[in-house]
Amino acid sequence: MSAYHPLTEAEAIEYARKLPDLFAPGSELSSREIGDGNLNLVFHISEPSSGKSIILKQALPYAKVVGESWPLTLDRARIESEALLIQESLCPKLVPHVHVYEPELALTVMQDLSDHVIMRKGLIEGQRYPLFAGHIATFLARTLFFTSDLGLNQQEKKERVKRFINPELCKITEDLIFDDPYTDSPNNNVPPAIRDAVEAVWQDNELHVEVAILRDKFLTKAQSLLHGDLHTGSIFIKADSTKVIDPEFAYYGPMGFDIGAVIANLLLNFAAQEGLSLDSASRRDYRDYLTGTIRDIWTKFEAEFRALWNEHGVDRMFRTPGFADYYLQEVLRDTVGFAGSKMVRRIHGLAQVADINQLQDEAARERAQRIALAIGTALIKSNRSVTSIDQLIETADKAV
Ligand code: ADP
Ligand code: MG
Ligand code: MG
Ligand code: MG
Repeated sequence: MSAYHPLTEAEAIEYARKLPDLFAPGSELSSREIGDGNLNLVFHISEPSSGKSIILKQALPYAKVVGESWPLTLDRARIESEALLIQESLCPKLVPHVHVYEPELALTVMQDLSDHVIMRKGLIEGQRYPLFAGHIATFLARTLFFTSDLGLNQQEKKERVKRFINPELCKITEDLIFDDPYTDSPNNNVPPAIRDAVEAVWQDNELHVEVAILRDKFLTKAQSLLHGDLHTGSIFIKADSTKVIDPEFAYYGPMGFDIGAVIANLLLNFAAQEGLSLDSASRRDYRDYLTGTIRDIWTKFEAEFRALWNEHGVDRMFRTPGFADYYLQEVLRDTVGFAGSKMVRRIHGLAQVADINQLQDEAARERAQRIALAIGTALIKSNRSVTSIDQLIETADKAV
């Protein structure tokens, strides 16, 4: 079974059976493939007699994205498992534990998180997660600080950068987030009802300049080891626990890209309240919950990041008074710009979000799409001048 091939369910069981100290010898195991099958297989293997279970995630050598398949490196399984191990060393409770990484099979064996739900689904159902802001702020502060030149010896950091050159997955981001949505590309899925608003995006040169600046930062600003795809579909959650999964897009990039991804996906749900909430009072209330969460994420992130800097900063020049203020303002500005970019691509780009697309009421769906596009473009245009997270929240509130 060692040469690479996509595993069958029977082979996944056979593989899991050989893992040390897990299942009883000879016991009955069952397997379900629970991935969406576009890029990766995800097998859930369980032992009914003990209730023990495990996840096997295997990368496929192609992506079925633009109608047809294109080849996609299996090395992303190494990147994902190495990123998970680094994240676990920095925030043990906030990612699944990796038991084994098997390079030949592009296979990662990890902790089963089936007692959590995917956060996008929880938010669509109107759930609230009071501990989430603190958990994700800790994840962001610790992973971004300790993998950057602020918290890591600069020679070691350069070795890290080498291990996380991820050109093929970065190319997906460069095209789908920072290129296609701003032109009449065949990769887009333009909702006919909002074609006028999308055409305005295609013609807005002021917007394109800002997107070019953000794209250039994504290409060149090797600031921290990013998760790289930190939307609410990459977050498993329950009342007292948050777990970040799926870092196959990990690479060295600008901190604001990860923080912005989280905020963008909360704001996409904010827009979707047009159809998800049943009346205006509950809509206002849930939107306030979402923007309150965003404010808490930034505030807690900034406080935790500054504390790490004071305690663990490795560079003398970087401790110069005033530099941390400058640095965090730039991170905030990048966060706002990347949040806007991540919203726009979800409205008329290739891959969209269930929060909005699953709205049954067409008029509500159209209003949600227009709101999200208005917030996204306004955030992109304001990114280089904002000075506080409240300005981002005002932008969202003004759009509804
Ligand atoms: P992809 O890169 O293909 O998006 P994900 O890592 O996001 O793969 O996993 C796809 C789905 O598989 C998740 O949405 C979740 O339902 C399930 N899954 C992935 N990892 C786990 C896990 N550790 N525990 C339980 N379910 C998981
Ligand atoms: Mg998927
Ligand atoms: Mg993925
Ligand atoms: Mg995923």
